[in-house]
Amino acid sequence: MSLFKGLAKILFPHTCVLCAERSDQSRDMCIECEKKLPWTHSVCKQCGLHLPSGTDTDICGHCQQKTPQFDRVLALCDYADPIDRLITAAKFNQKLVYTRLLGELLAKQVTQKWYQSQPMPSLIVPVPLHDARIKARGYNQSVEIAKIVSKKLHLPFSFDICKRNKATLAQSGLTHAEREKNMKNAFTLRSTSIASHVAIIDDIVTTGHTVGELSKQLRAAGVKQIDVWCCARTQRDKG
Ligand SMILES: [Zn+2]
Ligand SMILES: [Zn+2]
Repeated sequence: MSLFKGLAKILFPHTCVLCAERSDQSRDMCIECEKKLPWTHSVCKQCGLHLPSGTDTDICGHCQQKTPQFDRVLALCDYADPIDRLITAAKFNQKLVYTRLLGELLAKQVTQKWYQSQPMPSLIVPVPLHDARIKARGYNQSVEIAKIVSKKLHLPFSFDICKRNKATLAQSGLTHAEREKNMKNAFTLRSTSIASHVAIIDDIVTTGHTVGELSKQLRAAGVKQIDVWCCARTQRDKG
């Protein structure tokens, strides 16, 4: 290694996971690649789905008709390339570099964008996985992401407040009714004394049934405000 390369590595120790160039930031993504992420905007402030263009309300028709169990979904990105690849890598490759990066991006968005004029939650609850799935994968990616967010924001997180009762089927490929049935009673809370304002962390929110079911349990335990922080939100218009 040349002296120049050696010095550069000390000054810029991070490598961008997308372009493999040296990162000019204190995380494993360069500014250029970060700018090009499919950042979420113009979405319903409750469910996080795109609002129809030209709409003059900030809550979509679905949420107006049937209020979700959670108060708001805050998503980093729409579920699209390349965030989808990062999430898959975080889930299956045992590579915690991806969960660390996703956690850092979430923490940045929380402090710089989402909570400018809003009170912060006082507890982070990652969506639990069933024991069988943790055993197979070795870890719960949402817990790993939550650990980073918790550390960055100095917010406590609890990974054992809630238990996943069944190894639910993957939601993709199921009909709406099947998804609802699949998630029913999927969680049991182990504590009834929980903070009044909670942020649920999930890597990806697809239909909202998983975080909806968890929110239902938290709500029943007296949680007043439930925000959902996720790395990506599947948009209806993107399938
Ligand atoms: Zn890059
Ligand atoms: Zn909505």
